[in-house]
Amino acid sequence: MWKGRKDARGGHCLLAWPKVTRPICLGGLGISDLQKLGSALKLRWLWLQKTEPEKAWAFFPIQAQPQLQAFFAMAVETIIGNGKNTHFWLDRWLLGQSLKQTLPHLFSAIAVRARRRTVYDAISGRRWISDIKGALNMQVLIEYLHLWDLLSNIELQAGVDDTHIWRFSTTGVYSTKSAYEALFIGATQFGSWERIWKSWAPGKCKFFMWTVAHNRCWTADRLAKRGLNHPPKCPLCDQVGESIDHLLVSCVFTRQFWFCILQQFGLQAVAPRLDEHCFIDWWARASSRFSGQVKEGVDSIIILGSWLVWKHRNYCVFDGGTPSLSRVMTTFREDVQQWSVAGARGVSYLLALPPTS
Ligand SMILES: [Zn+2]
Repeated sequence: MWKGRKDARGGHCLLAWPKVTRPICLGGLGISDLQKLGSALKLRWLWLQKTEPEKAWAFFPIQAQPQLQAFFAMAVETIIGNGKNTHFWLDRWLLGQSLKQTLPHLFSAIAVRARRRTVYDAISGRRWISDIKGALNMQVLIEYLHLWDLLSNIELQAGVDDTHIWRFSTTGVYSTKSAYEALFIGATQFGSWERIWKSWAPGKCKFFMWTVAHNRCWTADRLAKRGLNHPPKCPLCDQVGESIDHLLVSCVFTRQFWFCILQQFGLQAVAPRLDEHCFIDWWARASSRFSGQVKEGVDSIIILGSWLVWKHRNYCVFDGGTPSLSRVMTTFREDVQQWSVAGARGVSYLLALPPTS
């Protein structure tokens, strides 16, 4: 994500590295974040310790930071059998929660050594009661009675092992991939990821769309902010200042272009209107009106169209060209055929539709 120069330093990144290393559905490029991957692999050890307690290495002390242990506790739910491999206070075995979470006052009154008791140990002989060492204030007493009630319905099954379920995979079994992705939970979803990465388009075009979605193209507004040379007005319409949204959706030139190319397929109804100001929103709306191969075709065509507008803009800025709708249209007609031949199914489907008048 750098300029590709030896002397690239801060400020030359196209996009902050932590964003780039996100999974693509969260707006990154899916490059592995090594720290998170390391955490995901450590979670595997905790998982194995939990699910294969009879293995020799299950007794090794595994060093995991408290946050990671907390994450693990959150990630695993237990169906209790004999209770011998489940922590009474720390694991989520009762009502899908850990007792530490649901009964915090009572938990804080439990002797520190006894906090890692198994369900089996705690329940047999009601040892959990003799573990209470702290002051018995009102809140502790309420929680104590509550737990007494909860436990009255629990019966351990001597011959049955506890079952641990990994909540982040459909199979209920730990996988590094699911753990890695779960570590990103809470990060904002990246709405356009599917349209960008799952559509048929050459890699360079998809990458371009990714930079568009993150507003990282070097249009005049961004160049101006950095005090760099920039065209004073939009190079295509010469009417207003240039931003990526203007260039791709609200510019007069571009709106006409979208109308013309969509009209070829009888899809002009989704062409951007006068009041359209956000390219990504327009694309989402246009795409959502179709399904199946038509949708695939529309997505590819919007990617191709955006790419051509960007190239035409650069031709005007850097090669002194004059904006020409017929020139972009000609390139579009050629490229759309090539994309179809190269394997863009949706585009082939649209091209095969009977021409509309
Ligand atoms: Zn313009």
